[in-house]
Amino acid sequence: FPCQLIRNFSIIAHIDHGKSTLADSASGQNKQVLDKLKVERERGITVKAQTATMIHEFYGQQHLLNLIDTPGHVDFAWEVARSLSACQGALLLVDATQGVQAQSISVFHVARERNIKIIPVLNKIDLPQADPERIANQMCSTFGLELADVLYVSAKTGRGVDQVLQAIADRIPPPKGDASSPLKALLFDSSYDRYRGVISLTSINSGVLRKGDKIASSHSRKRYEVVEVGIMHPEEVSTELLLPGQVGYFVCNMKESSEAHIGDTFYRQGEKVEPLEGFKPTRAMVYAGVFPVDSNDFLKLEESIKRLALTDRSVTIQRESSTALGQGCRLGFLGTLHMDVFRQRLEDEYDANVIITSPTVPYKIVYKDRVITISNPTDFPDVYESTHNVIEIQEPMVNATIIVPQEFLGEMMDLCSSHRGQNMDHRYLELAGAAGVDTAPRVILTAKLPLSEVVTDFFDSLKHRSSGYASFDYEDAGYEACNMKKMTFQLNGKPIDALAMIVHHSAIHDIGKLWAKKLKDVIPRHLFEVAIQAVVGSKVVARETISAMRKDVTAGLYGVSSYLSDSQHLTRQKEGKKKMKRIGSIELPQAAFFDVLSNK
Ligand code: GDP
Ligand code: MG
Repeated sequence: FPCQLIRNFSIIAHIDHGKSTLADSASGQNKQVLDKLKVERERGITVKAQTATMIHEFYGQQHLLNLIDTPGHVDFAWEVARSLSACQGALLLVDATQGVQAQSISVFHVARERNIKIIPVLNKIDLPQADPERIANQMCSTFGLELADVLYVSAKTGRGVDQVLQAIADRIPPPKGDASSPLKALLFDSSYDRYRGVISLTSINSGVLRKGDKIASSHSRKRYEVVEVGIMHPEEVSTELLLPGQVGYFVCNMKESSEAHIGDTFYRQGEKVEPLEGFKPTRAMVYAGVFPVDSNDFLKLEESIKRLALTDRSVTIQRESSTALGQGCRLGFLGTLHMDVFRQRLEDEYDANVIITSPTVPYKIVYKDRVITISNPTDFPDVYESTHNVIEIQEPMVNATIIVPQEFLGEMMDLCSSHRGQNMDHRYLELAGAAGVDTAPRVILTAKLPLSEVVTDFFDSLKHRSSGYASFDYEDAGYEACNMKKMTFQLNGKPIDALAMIVHHSAIHDIGKLWAKKLKDVIPRHLFEVAIQAVVGSKVVARETISAMRKDVTAGLYGVSSYLSDSQHLTRQKEGKKKMKRIGSIELPQAAFFDVLSNK
């Protein structure tokens, strides 16, 4: 297949707009080949980009169409960018019943930045409530596209899919590439096979990659020999070679997934090449501690996490330990959806039973002479005004986009203000009263928000307060100075280490009170009085007291009655004696403690 007969493209869309269905329909498959992971099938989202090659005839010639799947969520924007780097075009798919949504906009921007051909496609035109004309207009005005270029399809019934394939052949430029130039093969993804080792997904920028080639990595300078090359059709099908512009896989004597550096350029040993522009490294933006429910399971958990992380290189791992929870790992994720997906995969694929502490974002501590980034509240300075040479604390910000029917605009603005939103602005997605507009017009609301506000209950509130109509996405907006404080909790003066948190100064009293109360509800009475204090700097900002137990009820010493129901009480009481955590002279039932920490 010479270059001019190859098209490399992806489908970009908001979740549920029909990307997988269209991919299946175009490739003549009837099961969802592209969403391979269980969590992807269950949640209907794509997490890891997949590739499939289709062969179609146009103008009497067989063409090779390489579909490179992209995740639809901003948490995976990095994966979107890296999939698109192998493409010359993208189908921008919008559901004709829903219209443009927040993620349609964010993925469109990623594609625009890469300067690739965008083909607008309206999907689900078979549905009675579809309003293709109106949505087509909306798409064109939102993205600055031509109405005449819009394609109308039903991925489900297959209607219009042939026109989509034809448009791919006609409108998307073939990859440029020179078979006689030195080899440059971009590694854009990898997977691991127990028998063959690392399988690398590659797009050939120039030159030819053949079985038996001796190649080397620009990143590590390590040398390899290619033992297999092929295309994904849709599973691996080996071929003798990959030509420039082609997308496929190769297997070489690479043993460890860590050697497959995403964005690396492979070249032929002995040939000097300028490496291709790689990818901006992923940056974890949400951190959480992951602990085994049973502390004896730590090594097994760590092993599972490490193995899972091999298939998802955007997760960062460090060890963490806490007196309350024992040994665990501190993991960094791209966002909260990413965190949920990872947790679910850990449970599904490794049968792990874990506790995840509430997420924190990375803060920058700006000292006079240096800046450090911390991702664990424990590392946050207790006091920083006028001491320790700290100039300021900075927190990560995001530019959020919310799309919502106009009747919910007020609610959404409220929600943003109560989450420290700034620079709020809105505009109509379509003109009110415009011809054909018989449904309520929708509004795009943009605001700058602290990421820490977004990673908590924001998404749930958004859905709740818009009756499920709002769609939401955000992108990185750098760091800004903030007024955050570290809050710790003490039991009779002894700190609970796993329970340090970083709180905005305006929320100190509310949050202090809330958590002191939560603790009061799970700590059993002792023979002495127990004081629970929320502390910021040297100030106590909230306090609860558990009064001492009368001497004659010592039978309930290890009772967890304030926390457990009666039926649980007896069984738990026995194990309870073993599973107690000590903070100073105070004993806590472990299970209760876990519930508080994992924010249940
Ligand atoms: P993705 O999240 O973009 O990959 O979306 P999916 O392909 O998983 O589709 C989401 C839902 O929309 C599924 O229930 C599909 O069956 C349905 N769907 C996709 N395309 C069409 C279509 O053209 N017509 C109808 N009626 N339903 C569709
Ligand atoms: Mg999908």
